[in-house]
Amino acid sequence: MGTNDKITMEHGAGGQSMQDLIGKMILGNITNRSAGTVGLDDLDDGATISLPDDMLGSSELVITTDSHVVDPLFFPGGDIGRLSVCGTINDLSVMGAIPLALTCAIIVREGFETASFERIMRSVDLASKEAGVPIVTGDTKTIQGDKLDSMIINTTGIGIASPVVRDNGLSPEDVIIITGNMGDHGIALLSHREGFDFETKLVSDVSPLNDLLRETLQFRAFEGNNAISAMKDPTRGGLASCINEIAQKSNVGIIIEEDSIPISEPVVAACEMLGLDPLEIANEGKAIIGVRPEYAQDVLDMLHSHKYGKNAAIVGKAVPEHRGKVLLRTSIGSLRQLPVPVGDPIPRVC
Ligand code: MG
Repeated sequence: MGTNDKITMEHGAGGQSMQDLIGKMILGNITNRSAGTVGLDDLDDGATISLPDDMLGSSELVITTDSHVVDPLFFPGGDIGRLSVCGTINDLSVMGAIPLALTCAIIVREGFETASFERIMRSVDLASKEAGVPIVTGDTKTIQGDKLDSMIINTTGIGIASPVVRDNGLSPEDVIIITGNMGDHGIALLSHREGFDFETKLVSDVSPLNDLLRETLQFRAFEGNNAISAMKDPTRGGLASCINEIAQKSNVGIIIEEDSIPISEPVVAACEMLGLDPLEIANEGKAIIGVRPEYAQDVLDMLHSHKYGKNAAIVGKAVPEHRGKVLLRTSIGSLRQLPVPVGDPIPRVC
């Protein structure tokens, strides 16, 4: 990146361009970044904060933050309010944390309809009640109508984890579980935004996963073993981005069975029509979970019993070969690499 280069949409899209921006421009300049066990360098879903010895026992405080720029603000299955609450709760949850509280900072355009503003605030409230996580503080700023198109909501969340689940904890033989259908959020949003009239109504999966993922963490307790070795939510860049990050950080190979990946018929059909890869499409109510093989079936059974895990599936496993890479075994049995997406094919989905 040279001095005359400009920020492009791809720099915020969750793929390789964003990784470059984060690596060079952000980490390259923010040097005061030491923190707890998981810090800014780890580029995980959040970070831990170290407290004086014994203040939390073996638990760690986890913090995460996310700004939501979704367009349009209202979409099938949700809106920016629900998305802002769920996105941050899910980032805490995939770190193994129990979310405790959220902040909500709103930047809104001059001229924005107060009825829509109220509808979004009620949605924030409903989602936070569903998750059982209160909004404890916030901030509101307005900007001239020619400087912002609608509204941006930032939420920060804190939670407590014991122990923290990392992106880098996957070991060879660990089983990869996906908690449900891939691509629902991005495709529902795109179809609505572009006015595509697909036969089946596509609905976003935006949901808080704290209850579902708290259940999976119960399996950690058996005989002192850690059943869950890694977790991540496949938001921007979809499964392709998320699973590659886990493979790279854990320094293992991952083989994914293409036929095992749950994707709804309407999403498959829409992706075919639009020339998109459902594995690169954002999700807002799904998690990728790495599980020690002896617990995989128990975790899967538990996920199936929860409303947000009904379509959960075992989709692959970690291997000692192909370190840092993800290979997809296709329907015809051939292996091909699943690359890191360069950018997100659908901007402004979260
Ligand atoms: Mg995340």
